Amino acid sequence: MVDISLSRREGRELDTATEATVIDHYDSIRGNPDAFVHSCLFIEWLLHSVTGSEPSHPMFHLIRGVQDNFAAGAPFWPVLCSGIEKALRLSGFAMELDRCTRCGCDSRGSSLWNASSGGIVCENCGSAGSEEIPPGLIVFLRKSRNGRLDEVRNLKLWRGGYRQCFDLMKRFAEVHMETRMNLKSLSVLEALENDR
Ligand SMILES: [Zn+2]
Repeated sequence: MVDISLSRREGRELDTATEATVIDHYDSIRGNPDAFVHSCLFIEWLLHSVTGSEPSHPMFHLIRGVQDNFAAGAPFWPVLCSGIEKALRLSGFAMELDRCTRCGCDSRGSSLWNASSGGIVCENCGSAGSEEIPPGLIVFLRKSRNGRLDEVRNLKLWRGGYRQCFDLMKRFAEVHMETRMNLKSLSVLEALENDR
């Protein structure tokens, strides 16, 4: 991870790097294939979803926090999913987890999800385009929204639960960012997990 200072002269379109400092080499991530592929997947996600060239301190600290947690060792999936949830919020694409995204009523008891309307929907509004999702995913996402990464990393879901969570957020991001996310690191991660 590198802290880099850029400056741009008036009228120019390119930045000039004036200073670069290595903050952390993250040797423990590079030495652990599991940590490495989760780390690549998170960064690849950001390459798809973060646009613009303005510096963002919250995003910088989030990236650092995610990498620090990967460097600390397993588990990796909860950190990855929570990092993505937080990145979505910082990018202005928060998932709605409390109120029905169609009528606005309190829907904290609902587990109906509609990616295109922006999150959960109540029983009355759940129709075409809505899907029933495991309530545990919503509970996890709420905890991620309110908790620190080092707290969230200890949360456990059922087998395959974090992959479901990841896929849910990927579909959500693809709808709202109007892009297809073809994530190469995901295929590598799948190959690694299937080899076990
Ligand atoms: Zn509703």
